[in-house]
Amino acid sequence: MTKTITLAQGNGGEENNELIKKVFYKAFKNEILERSEDAAVIGKWAMTTDSFTVSPLFFAGADIGKLAVCGTCNDLAMMGAQPKYLTCSVIIEEGFEVESLERIVESMRAELAINGAVVVSGDTKVVPKGSVDKIFINTTGLGEIAREGISSNNISEADVILINRDIGCHGATIFAAREGMQMSSALKSDCNSLYPQVKALIDAGVRITAMRDATRGGVAAVLNEWARQSNVCIEVDEEKIPVSREVQGICEMLGFEATALANEGTFVLALPRESAPQALEILRTFEVCAMASMVGEVTQKHPQRVILKSAWGTSRFMETPSGELLPRIC
Ligand code: MG
Repeated sequence: MTKTITLAQGNGGEENNELIKKVFYKAFKNEILERSEDAAVIGKWAMTTDSFTVSPLFFAGADIGKLAVCGTCNDLAMMGAQPKYLTCSVIIEEGFEVESLERIVESMRAELAINGAVVVSGDTKVVPKGSVDKIFINTTGLGEIAREGISSNNISEADVILINRDIGCHGATIFAAREGMQMSSALKSDCNSLYPQVKALIDAGVRITAMRDATRGGVAAVLNEWARQSNVCIEVDEEKIPVSREVQGICEMLGFEATALANEGTFVLALPRESAPQALEILRTFEVCAMASMVGEVTQKHPQRVILKSAWGTSRFMETPSGELLPRIC
């Protein structure tokens, strides 16, 4: 590992994993942490925390406030838990406009209501100009588990892999905003609360093996984490991965892979093959999930690896993203 921290170590990919393992897991080692789930499961409760540093603060489809509630609530939802109680800690730079702060907090309020969650504790710090860039937010969340046994460590060859919607919108939107690119109005962040979709699946009795929201590192990071955690091979059909025309355009222009772009309302689902048609039917009742798709299957061909199969019959490994992807994406 490098002697000083690099931006790549916050990328949600390879270098980030190494930092977490060699510094944090080494010091904090315990059974719950080592399960490496989206949220820790403690009895009937799921618990998670996340900090938000996105730049710009306001972007097409959402802002840092909506993101700060979705990010934490979605990690709870991914464990089959209903988001209930959140904390909200802010670090604000001296000189930040109160009007912007009020807009951000209003976004948080609206998104909490969608989840049925409330903020029950918080902290405000103001630091001198230049000590932080405008505002950083941390939220910690507690969710009540509605479906037990969901785990990224239990994926088997009986499972197939689904994605709930078209991928890469958040990463592409933030990139376009930062570069000052004039994009079509159809491109906006997918930032969205996932609990309503998860609740619909649970209420219908759909069997679920694992769920993970594809945030930093994108779908490629999730699939590689799963292949390693469950010691399986995940084989994905490239043409079945849903990508919108707008995101595809940005990827081609800039040489990105849509599978490495960050999302904030997109999740990957592993579930028994026979449950897949029902799950897709339920997901597609949500407007944003029109492109929900079964993208692959679980095998033992190359345990701990992800294979991407092209429409022309060729295949290659899909790697965990690495390098300075896009700092301050969330
Ligand atoms: Mg997550």
